[in-house]
Amino acid sequence: MKKILLLWLGLCQAVLAAPVLSVTEAAAGVFVHLGVQELPDTHNHGAIANIGFIVGDRCVAVIDTGGNPEQGVALKRAVQHVTNKPVCYVVNTHVHPDHIYGNGAFKGEGVQFVGHKNLARAMAARGVFYLAKAEAVLGAKVSASDLVSPDIEVTRVTKLDLGGRVLEVRAHRTAHTDSDVSVYDAQTNTLWLSDLLFLQHIPVIDGSLKGWLAELEVLEKQTYTTVIPGHGPLVNDWPKAMQPEKSYLQALLADIRAAIKRGDYLESALNTVGIAGKGEWLLSDEFHRKNVTTAFAELEWEE
Ligand SMILES: [Zn+2]
Repeated sequence: MKKILLLWLGLCQAVLAAPVLSVTEAAAGVFVHLGVQELPDTHNHGAIANIGFIVGDRCVAVIDTGGNPEQGVALKRAVQHVTNKPVCYVVNTHVHPDHIYGNGAFKGEGVQFVGHKNLARAMAARGVFYLAKAEAVLGAKVSASDLVSPDIEVTRVTKLDLGGRVLEVRAHRTAHTDSDVSVYDAQTNTLWLSDLLFLQHIPVIDGSLKGWLAELEVLEKQTYTTVIPGHGPLVNDWPKAMQPEKSYLQALLADIRAAIKRGDYLESALNTVGIAGKGEWLLSDEFHRKNVTTAFAELEWEE
C-alpha cells in the first residue's frame, strides 16, 4: 500500500513538474509564445518559432506546435492553464520543423489538423530528411508519428468555427515555402502571418522570392490591429513593420536581375547581391547566401 502511495505521489509530482510554455496575450483570447531568435540547435532544441493558440466559446485552435515533441506538450499545458475548453483544431502554418514538431502532443479524438493543400506532400517529401537530422541537430527525438498530415486541406480560405469566433485560414501562393497559410481572427482584427513575416531574424526564402513579394503587396493594403510574425516581436504598426522585410526582398530581386543581365554566375552574385542591407538582420551569415542561391535559381530563367 505504502509503495502504491509513493508511486502515486511520484506520478503527481511528475505531472506537476511538466513545464507550461510561457505565453502572452497578444489580443483578447489570442495567446503567443515568442521563440528565441536563434538557429535550431541542441540547446534550444528547435524551439525558435512563435507558436500559440486562439480560444473560442466552444474550443481552441492551436497555431503551430513547436520545434520538438516536448515543446508541443508544454504548449498543450499552456492551453490547459488558460482554459478548460478542448483543442478542436491544430493549424500548421507550413512545413518547417520549428512549427510542426510538437504536433504529436495534440493528436486525439475531436482534434482536426489543418494545413495548406501542399502540406502533406511537403511533409512526405521532406519528412525522412528532417527526421534523420533531428536528433543530431536538435538533441531531441522526433519520430514519423510526430509529423501529422492535415485532416483539412486549405486550397483558398477555410473557416474554422471555435464557437462565437470564426477564424479564416488562407492558403497563399508559393512564398516563404509552398505550403504557407495565415490565420485571420476577425474578432480582434489579428492576422497570424507566421513565416510570411520575419522581424529582426533575416527572412528565409524556401519558396519563391517573386511570390513572397506579390503576397506582401496584397497584405500591405490591409489594416490589422495586431500581426503575429513567425519570428520576431508582435506587431501593432502594420504595414510599417513589414517594410524592412519588403526592402530586403526587393533588393534581392533588383540585384539578382542586374547580376543575371550582366551575365554574372551565381558564384560572383553571392558576393554582391543584397550586401548593403544584409547587416541589419540577425542570422544573416547563416541565411543570406542561401537566399541568394534560391532566388538566383528562380530568376535565372525568367523571361
Ligand atoms: Zn519557416
